[in-house]
Amino acid sequence: MKIKFTILGCGSSLGSPWITSYRGNLKKSPKNVRTRCCAHIQKGNLSVCIDTSPDIKYQFLKNKIKNLDSIIYTHEHADQTAGIFEMRPFYWKNKSKIPIYGSRRTIQALKKSYRFCFIEVQGYQPIMKANIINKSFSIKKNKVKLSVKAFQVNHGSIKSTGYIIDKIAYLSDCNNVSLKNIKYLKNLNYLILDCLKIDQHPSHFNLDEALNLINITKPKKAVLTNLHTDLDYFNLKKKLPKNIIPAYDGLSFSC
Ligand SMILES: [Zn+2]
Repeated sequence: MKIKFTILGCGSSLGSPWITSYRGNLKKSPKNVRTRCCAHIQKGNLSVCIDTSPDIKYQFLKNKIKNLDSIIYTHEHADQTAGIFEMRPFYWKNKSKIPIYGSRRTIQALKKSYRFCFIEVQGYQPIMKANIINKSFSIKKNKVKLSVKAFQVNHGSIKSTGYIIDKIAYLSDCNNVSLKNIKYLKNLNYLILDCLKIDQHPSHFNLDEALNLINITKPKKAVLTNLHTDLDYFNLKKKLPKNIIPAYDGLSFSC
């Protein structure tokens, strides 16, 4: 059964434009209006999202996603988690806690920052059930099963989790993949990869570093995400070979 993968948001931590209207080098175009990084997977009637950005409500409405079964978290930074509160209607709709998945460290951080999602606070019921992931795990709904591989990547001073679903890898926040873990990135149909800026950054791949990893791993297609305001969609697209494309919000493909 095919998977439909959608990039809900491909912007860096402040999105573009910023709340101040600052847009850096970006031409005015819907392709350069970027919400915070987040993705969605649909397999049959199973609906799973990766991270809950601060823009998640708008992202779900725009992409007409009406159901949600589970959430996979890459790490605890606010641009990947602050929309967690918006998930409450799915708890009501599903009539059960929403299962979430993440590394031990990510789950601990989420429980600390968003305590009310996991334990009853002031009479409000918890809406989530936390699951600490192994190297591989699966999410099931009736006869549909999504198999996921997970491994840790460097993201500045913390580790974030890279996920592989079928032949699609999602590494939205990453500045290094260890030699040991590069093997997970071989034979991919799609590599969705952090590419923050032209300049180097302590927590994210820049353009040269992202292209280097793509060159080593040779996916059929690569999609650059977590794009900052110095990376205009059109200028970037012109520079890239055909099998590498800049992400834009709402970009989707089936695999
Ligand atoms: Zn981050």
